[in-house]
Amino acid sequence: MGNRAIFIDRDGTININFGYISNPDDFKIYPGVKEGIKLLKEKGFKIVVITNQSGIARGYFSEETLEKIHEKMKSEISQEEDIIDAIYYCPHHPDEKCNCRKPNPGLIEKARKNLDIDTKKSFIIGDRMLDVEAGFKTHCKTVLVPENKEKVNIEMQESEIEPDYVCDDFYMGVKWIIDNM
Ligand SMILES: [Mg+2]
Ligand SMILES: [Zn+2]
Repeated sequence: MGNRAIFIDRDGTININFGYISNPDDFKIYPGVKEGIKLLKEKGFKIVVITNQSGIARGYFSEETLEKIHEKMKSEISQEEDIIDAIYYCPHHPDEKCNCRKPNPGLIEKARKNLDIDTKKSFIIGDRMLDVEAGFKTHCKTVLVPENKEKVNIEMQESEIEPDYVCDDFYMGVKWIIDNM
């Protein structure tokens, strides 16, 4: 029996996506995220952040800077405990055709192995169809919280799959997950 997990996208889901965030000061968390993650943790889910960070391959910021941004993210989500079980990122450029850049499933597969996760009992929550596609490939249930609705509507029309649930904010997604776990 593996663990249940919530895979959470970072930019546009946890925080406002300003594009290639390279300074912790630009990391602005969305309302309801902190409360939502806390609730999921109480329900027994492992909390795993999975994020494409090609800004590293592009030379926009270093892994040290990314680490600082993630320290800020963790401390904003919870001061008291390590509420986030793991953070996995893809540092590659799209041209590298790696298996970890979403919509590929590599980050989820790595988490599955390292944290003994049963993906069939797990969910992914993200703001883009590439998150939904990565979750679909690994048999997670999928929640889409579009940040840029216009762009995501086009992505949805072009995709062959559909998210299990679409909603307007992170906390709504969390409530749906709890009702459907
Ligand atoms: Mg995103
Ligand atoms: Zn990669």
